[in-house]
Amino acid sequence: MKLDEIRAAESRLLLSTYERSPVLFVRGEGVYIIDESGDRYLDLLSGIGVNALGYNHPAVVDTIARQSRALIHSSNLYYHEGQAELALRLTERTGLDRAFFANTGTEAWEGALKLARAYAGLKRNEGANVGTKFLALEQSFHGRTFGSMSTTFKAKYREPFGPVVPGVEFVRFNDVADLRAKFSSEVCAILVESIQGEGGIRPLTQEFFSEARALASSTGALLIVDEIQSGMGRTGKWCAYQHFGIEPDVTTFAKPLAGGLPLGAVMCTEEVARVMHAGMHGTTFGGGPLACAVGIAVIDTIEKNGLLAHATEIGDYFMQRLRSLAAAHETIVDVRGKGLMIAAELDSAELAKLTVAEMLKRHILINCTSETVLRFLPPYILERAHVDTAIAALDEIFTVHAAEHNASAGGHLHG
Ligand SMILES: *Cc1c(COP(=O)(O)O)cnc(C)c1O
Repeated sequence: MKLDEIRAAESRLLLSTYERSPVLFVRGEGVYIIDESGDRYLDLLSGIGVNALGYNHPAVVDTIARQSRALIHSSNLYYHEGQAELALRLTERTGLDRAFFANTGTEAWEGALKLARAYAGLKRNEGANVGTKFLALEQSFHGRTFGSMSTTFKAKYREPFGPVVPGVEFVRFNDVADLRAKFSSEVCAILVESIQGEGGIRPLTQEFFSEARALASSTGALLIVDEIQSGMGRTGKWCAYQHFGIEPDVTTFAKPLAGGLPLGAVMCTEEVARVMHAGMHGTTFGGGPLACAVGIAVIDTIEKNGLLAHATEIGDYFMQRLRSLAAAHETIVDVRGKGLMIAAELDSAELAKLTVAEMLKRHILINCTSETVLRFLPPYILERAHVDTAIAALDEIFTVHAAEHNASAGGHLHG
């Protein structure tokens, strides 16, 4: 089928949950994704932060080929080689002790919420005064299933599906006074992203993060950190909370964890893990042999190829180039990020949307989140030349826009 036929068929056959851009991709190579006519697009979004090693990376595709011939799925009723190997790598890199594997981000997050409620119950049985309430942050995003959606801030994600899971209160982002005011022994967990992703690439302040850690520790509540977008090396460290020197009780991973295959993980301390017993939580597909084998290959490749240091270096270069661009175009009001989790915030939602479309026309993929924020989540293998290409395209788009803007303003004056 051609793109037009596919669009027509999808509009008849699929739930209309997405407004897709009119482009049909058929394969990928390195930092490029290629459409049906063979045109290459520089991918600065990597499937929303998933394809950490880019496309068609030998470590990923060779592992898939080898492991799929051996064993794709066996269920969690039996042992296979992958889970302990992957869990070992994750515990070494997170400071946490145990893992549970799920399939997606939202599913990992559900596991984290369930751990928090169950652990609070255990603490109450042991005589502690811990409630069942969750404190989440304004502008947070934790996923689309019921628990995750209920802890996600934006009303448009929650309201059509109400009533949502009760017992969630939202704290103003980075507002320490609001956090202190809303925290009490009723709270079983404080839920944060180290750097909010969908919320516009907004890092927590050190003060807020440290206070959340201290408050949770003061009552036996948990600090749960969602690293689904920011984790696994994207910010130049395995976990973005490591930039802050914070030790969470629970964390979650997913997007880049298995280089493009669905895989999520919830990690916790030995103390929290006490609460889980056989039969309490589970999954048919989660942590299957194929996804785990690829997860191991992705981590080993990031390590072997020095991609954490590379993400830091290229990310710094990217942000420095964006800051120079901001000096030339006042429409860019802020540039922020860490490693290869980068935002350029514009002063106009309309222009942000237009910029994404204009970049697509120039065969460069980015997206816009939080209305006005251009978001860059490129693969960790990005090089300076790719950054230069993107900056030149943005420069051109903003220059043309400013000229048109001035012309129409001028035209107006002349009546
Ligand atoms: C994407 C994302 C999720 C949800 O992951 P899915 O795999 O889409 O369910 C949760 N939290 C954060 C921070 C995310 O970026």
